Amino acid sequence: MTLELEDIDRVTVLGAGSMGHGITEVVALGGYDVTMRDIKEEIVEDGYDDIKWSLEKLAEKGLVDQDPDEVLDRVDTAVDLEAAVEDADLVIEAAPEKLDLKRDIYGDLEEYAPDHTIFASNTSSLPITQIAEATERPEQVVGTHFFNPPVKMDLVEVIYGEETTDETADLAYEFVEDIEKTPIYVRKDVRGFVVNTVLGPFGDEAAWMASEGVASVEAIDAAMVHQRGYPMGPFELSDMTGIDIGYDVAKEAGREVAPIVEEKVEAGDLGQKTGKGYYDYEDGEGTTYEPGDGEGVDTLRIEARIINRAAYLVREDVATPEAIDTGMRLGTGFPEGPCRRADKIGLDVVLEKLQDLHEEYGAERYEPDPWLVEKVEAGETGEDAGSGFFDYGGGEDGTRDYTTINHELHDDGLLEIELDRPARMNALNDDLMQETVHLLNTVDTDEVRAVTFEGNGDRAFSAGADITGFSGIAPHEVEVTEFFQTVNDFPRPTLAKIDGFCLGGGHELALACDLRVATEDSEFGFPEIDLGLIPGGGGTQRAMRMLPEARAKELVFRGNRISAERAHKWGLINCAVDSEDFEEICEEFVDDLVNGPPIALKKAKQVMNKGADENMEAGLEMESQAFGLLLTTDDMEEGAMAFMGDREPEFEGK
Ligand code: NAD
Repeated sequence: MTLELEDIDRVTVLGAGSMGHGITEVVALGGYDVTMRDIKEEIVEDGYDDIKWSLEKLAEKGLVDQDPDEVLDRVDTAVDLEAAVEDADLVIEAAPEKLDLKRDIYGDLEEYAPDHTIFASNTSSLPITQIAEATERPEQVVGTHFFNPPVKMDLVEVIYGEETTDETADLAYEFVEDIEKTPIYVRKDVRGFVVNTVLGPFGDEAAWMASEGVASVEAIDAAMVHQRGYPMGPFELSDMTGIDIGYDVAKEAGREVAPIVEEKVEAGDLGQKTGKGYYDYEDGEGTTYEPGDGEGVDTLRIEARIINRAAYLVREDVATPEAIDTGMRLGTGFPEGPCRRADKIGLDVVLEKLQDLHEEYGAERYEPDPWLVEKVEAGETGEDAGSGFFDYGGGEDGTRDYTTINHELHDDGLLEIELDRPARMNALNDDLMQETVHLLNTVDTDEVRAVTFEGNGDRAFSAGADITGFSGIAPHEVEVTEFFQTVNDFPRPTLAKIDGFCLGGGHELALACDLRVATEDSEFGFPEIDLGLIPGGGGTQRAMRMLPEARAKELVFRGNRISAERAHKWGLINCAVDSEDFEEICEEFVDDLVNGPPIALKKAKQVMNKGADENMEAGLEMESQAFGLLLTTDDMEEGAMAFMGDREPEFEGK
């Protein structure tokens, strides 16, 4: 029988340790009944207490709107394996990272779990294929690699073993989506899956550079953080995760380890956990790099190797560029995915760097992946060439890939746009703004009847502009208004669906839309003043036209946030609704917009927007011209007929 998502009623998690209890928590938050099993009563109890503590913290911080007790009611605990899995439709195993132990567990599972049960392993480094071999149903075994801590980290890698069927992997993927995590497919069982494969060179190449003395530990960390935007430097990260961890992984893979890593491991300086690693956490003050230290560091050396790994994964069909980029953004906090970054740098530049390094050192790690060579030979060198890892509209139909927004045009004419930078609270960056403008400028407006904007994830519509890109911009380079203006001028009604933070640039995007519906726990504000700035995407002007002067100025001058309720009272949004009713109310708005007469809505938007900037006389003149034109449309006739026939009109935009 093929199991469908609806057939999954009961989930069992094996292990109540760091990952097991966290996975149990997110599964219960996702609305599933879940049994958490470990080998001793005390361990299960500790895990249960950890879940309780975490749920209360989430509720306290307003990060979930479910009652912690109700979520806990969905969690059962067990020590007896048979009792734990006899009704399970899906088992997620988060036992210690030892192959023999895991194989024993799967052998037992085979005996006690129903035939239809899917087995998912949370292993971070063991081959799924070898785990699956311990069962008689390798086609029903899949990897679901959650990141630590599961409640906070959105990413889950869904990994195929050699025998895993598409049905099994697709079901695991849908399940992950259903518990509101973001899955990516890892279509082959490669060591390190996607995220660790690509992340490897981040620390490794940095270590080679420091070992050779071409740059210091501090200089490399400073350059990667302050010039390239990574959330941590490679050495800082290594100190945090443990220098021995990377060392063991490299040794196991048969890779040469950089001398500086050998030295640290031999000396027992393994990072934060031993008090000392690349930095001193006991007698010293931890990381000691300063923003200016990174001057002159050859960061491309590190990024070229990262990109080379991405190329390998794409060539081998392990993952798509989109999956790789999503994985790196969500799994490691990379500021943008390596594939997108490669397309900006230019694949030819990356290839040349690798070739130079290969020539200089002769080491295998610099050998350019054949995929990169092929792309460069074909002239597909990235964004400037119109195509690279992604497609930038070089083709005939003018479409292109987007990496920071998702969109769907429905049959009824609703164009849904989702801001897709959840790890950065959907902050607006250059890519996101350019991609949205491209989409709105190239979509066939005749096919569109209304547009909605929303944020991915449940924390923010958009928390602002991504200020990492701000410093160093010359005044003449500031071009943000095109984005807000394109949204403002789009010839169809637009609705901002706001759930969570709506701040700064995100707030300005919402104001550039025609209508705004928000959940009650959303918050609005212009924090720019605290950065020594002012809103730069039309916020000062739109707020002044929309609100009484004192309120607009309060928002801009004081920089503090106001609740959705207050925003509604002030007239900044159309309504503030309970999160449970949010989708339904938005749908009611959308229904009216997509079923309304397209030409009349377009004209209404035009004369209301334009007229607001004119004097009354000019505004009235615009209105009556539009009115006259509408009198000649088929839609007007249809509206009148429907009214008289007491039926719903069917407008066709003619
Ligand atoms: P952990 O040591 O914190 O927890 C493992 C738990 O499994 C322990 O409580 C142990 O008692 C229990 N256990 C042992 N045998 C068991 C059995 N037969 N049935 C049920 N439970 C059993 O380890 P962890 O950090 O939670 O890691 C679990 C798995 O998740 C490993 O495969 C690990 O590689 C993977 N992982 C860990 C992280 C991380 O950062 N910790 C991240 C991603 C994936």
